[in-house]
Amino acid sequence: MTCPLCHEEIDVAGAGYCASHQRAFENIKRAFSTWTVAYGSPRVPGFLEQVQKLPQTGLKAKEIASFLLENPSRWK
Ligand SMILES: [Zn+2]
Repeated sequence: MTCPLCHEEIDVAGAGYCASHQRAFENIKRAFSTWTVAYGSPRVPGFLEQVQKLPQTGLKAKEIASFLLENPSRWK
């Protein structure tokens, strides 16, 4: 199995992404929980669009945010 973003081999069983995109995905999920506390219940697409615009968002996080916008079923 390969990472859907960078097509690198995934060596962790059950992981959906390579190690660096998996880490970015977990960071985004954690950031979303923080947002939920701060802003009520933001919608996931709106949140992902904001993440992409933030200057402090890293490249991997931007890649995963745009991937999740195109593939909402991957957000779980
Ligand atoms: Zn990757």
